[in-house]
Amino acid sequence: MRHVESMTLFEQGDHKYVMLGWEEREEEVAVQTNQYVIASGGEVILLDPGGAHVFPRVLANVAELYDLKDIRHIFYSHQDPDVSSGITLWLSMAEKAAVHISELWVRFLPHFGIYDAKRITPIPDKGGTISLSGGRKLSIIPSHFLHSTGCFSLYDPVSKILFSSDVGAAIFPRGGRYPVVEDFDSHIKHMEGFHRRYMGSNAVCRRWVRRVSELDVEHIAPQHGAFIKGRENVKKFLSWFENLACGSDILDDIYGR
Ligand code: FE
Repeated sequence: MRHVESMTLFEQGDHKYVMLGWEEREEEVAVQTNQYVIASGGEVILLDPGGAHVFPRVLANVAELYDLKDIRHIFYSHQDPDVSSGITLWLSMAEKAAVHISELWVRFLPHFGIYDAKRITPIPDKGGTISLSGGRKLSIIPSHFLHSTGCFSLYDPVSKILFSSDVGAAIFPRGGRYPVVEDFDSHIKHMEGFHRRYMGSNAVCRRWVRRVSELDVEHIAPQHGAFIKGRENVKKFLSWFENLACGSDILDDIYGR
């Protein structure tokens, strides 16, 4: 079984963006997931660190790189189990971390065993920012209905990496997973089925593309699948995504009649 090491996606001074490694056996029973860590000015930010299924591996990966007490923020793009169900585990390990999640999902968190509202920062529908030490800011960009009702991407203006959550996801056949997109055109086949069924509608895809096109995006980091590296691939992805028929556009395909 394959083991893939964590990979540095960007590094400049005290600012670093890491894609954590993974074990192929994680995929035997569960959907493949990616976790990312931003370290900036001595603060550590976890992006969609996941649930119980990957927790021991993600914890080991993070602890190998950083002191857990330096984790200041945990960003949850949405409420799905593969994204956020490890929240109680993470809040006990990362004692200084604040959780950022859509305001729509905050009242659902007690069902995960979270009652301490002081540690939760609800994200309003229109998005916002996460302020880091040294005046840096991460921008929280709405991605509602792509696929969750309350859902966000996270843009880091230093690395110019857009963490896109389920947008840009790919699902590989067993043993066929790769961490970075080499050839976008042949990568589409791994993205298509997922996006057609999980994403809300083409109107929302277009809306999101319009919004992120205002940003200077060099790479896209999705929560499943492979890192979309370089402006050329980002451009190809955005034009594929804004023309995708999905969700409520294809109700006949989904419902059958
Ligand atoms: Fe999801």
